[in-house]
Amino acid sequence: MAAMKHHCAIVGAGIGGLTLALSLLRAGYRVDVYEQAPELLELGAGVQLAPNGTRILRHLGLESALMAKGAVEAAGKEVRIWNTGETWPLFDLGEDSMRRFGAPYWMIHRGDLHRVLLDAVLREAPGSVHTGHRLTDLGQSGDDVSLRFANGAEARADLMIGADGVHSVVRRALFGEDAAEFTGIVAWRGLAPMAALPASLRRNVGTNWVGPGGHCITYPLRGETVMNFVGLVERDDWRNESWTEAGTTAESLADFEGWHPLIRQVIAEAGTPYLWALLQRPSLERWTSGRVTLLGDACHPTLPFLAQGAIMAIEDAIVLTRCLEAYGSDAAGAFARYEALRLPRTSAIVNGSRANTARFHNPVLADRDAAIRYVETEWKPETVRSRYDWLFAYDAMQVEI
Ligand code: FAD
Repeated sequence: MAAMKHHCAIVGAGIGGLTLALSLLRAGYRVDVYEQAPELLELGAGVQLAPNGTRILRHLGLESALMAKGAVEAAGKEVRIWNTGETWPLFDLGEDSMRRFGAPYWMIHRGDLHRVLLDAVLREAPGSVHTGHRLTDLGQSGDDVSLRFANGAEARADLMIGADGVHSVVRRALFGEDAAEFTGIVAWRGLAPMAALPASLRRNVGTNWVGPGGHCITYPLRGETVMNFVGLVERDDWRNESWTEAGTTAESLADFEGWHPLIRQVIAEAGTPYLWALLQRPSLERWTSGRVTLLGDACHPTLPFLAQGAIMAIEDAIVLTRCLEAYGSDAAGAFARYEALRLPRTSAIVNGSRANTARFHNPVLADRDAAIRYVETEWKPETVRSRYDWLFAYDAMQVEI
C-alpha cells in the first residue's frame, strides 16, 4: 500500500542509521539519510556482534559481504586475571552459539560493518545518503518535519529519525541538554598486527582481562590478522568523549603497569593508541515527540561493558521498521509501540553494562588467591548464562508488534 509508506529522513549514517535505512528501503519506504561527515570513512576499531545482532545482519543478507571483509567467528570467550594470565572459559560460542541461539558470534572492524551497510543502502537507493549535511535545526507541523543543515540546505519529510549518536542534536532539540557525567573511567583502544604477537594470542576467541581498577578486552579482527585492544582504567584526568583523539604508547603502557606481558606487548605493538573518556547519561523516559523519534546511541548511550551498543541500534532499526509497517499511516501509533517495545530492553542493557564496571574492576582482583575465588564465583557457568542468554536470545524479527 504505497500511500501508507511515509517518506523518512534519517539523521546520521552510523551503524543504526544505515541499518534503519536498509530495512526501510527493503520494506518499500522512501528514505533520505543526512550525515555530517563530508565523506564516509572506515572509522573505529573492533565491534563484537553477539547472536542477537548477527541474526539480523544475516536476515538482511549481509553475511557473505561481512565474511569477505574478514569478520571472525568467535569459538568462545575467556576471562583472564590481569597479572597472572590465569584463564577460565567464559562461554563457548561457535557451534554452541548456533545450537543455542541459531546465530553466530562475530568480531568485526566497525569500519567494515559500516562499509557493508553503506554499500547495501546505496545498492537499494543510489543517492539516498547525503554527506556533508550536519543537522543544526529541526521543526515540525501537523503534516511534516523540516530539517536545516549547516551547509545552508533544507529538507522536508513525513517523519524524522535521529540516529545521530551519543552527541545527538535531535535528542537535544526534543528533550533539552543532557547531563552527561564522567564515569571516572577512560578507555584506550588500538589495533596490533597479529604477526607481531606470540602464537598463543592467535586464536578466534575474545578475552576479558579483569583487574583491580581496570580491565582489557582483546579479540582478533580481519581474518585474524589484527588484534583489537580496548583497555579501560580508572583515571580522573581525561574528559574527552571523542573516538578520534590520539594518545601515546608510553602513556597507555603506564596505565597498564604491572599487567601481564601479553597485554603490554599488545599495547606496544598497537601503533598510535586512541583514548576516550566514558560518560554516562540519565536514561530518557521518552524518545518521541510528534513526527520525530530517536534510535541507537542518540536515545540509549551505554557503557561498552556488555558489548551491545551497536547491536541495540541494529535491533532498534528492525523493530522500528516493523512497527511502521504494522501501523500503516498511523505514525504516532508506530512510534509509541516502538518505544514501548524497545525502552525496557535497552534500559536493562544500559543498567547491566553499568553493573559490569564494579564486577570487572573489583579490588579483590589485586590478590591472587582472592582473585581466583572471585573469578570462579562471578563467572560460574550458570551465572554467566543468566547474564547473557536473555541478550543473545532476543529476535528482533519475531518480537510481537
Ligand atoms: P553512531 O554509529 O555513532 O552514528 C552516528 C552518526 O551520526 C555518525 O555517523 C555521526 O557522524 C552522525 N551525526 C552526528 N551528529 C550529526 C548531525 N548533527 N547531523 C548529521 N549527522 C550527524 N563502537 C565500538 O564498539 N567500537 C568502535 O571501535 C567504535 N568506534 C566508533 C568510531 C566512531 C567514529 C563512532 C562515531 C562511533 C564508534 N563506536 C564504536 C560506537 C558505535 O559505533 C556506536 O555505539 C553504535 O554503532 C551505535 O550506533 P549509532 O548509529 O546510534 O551511532
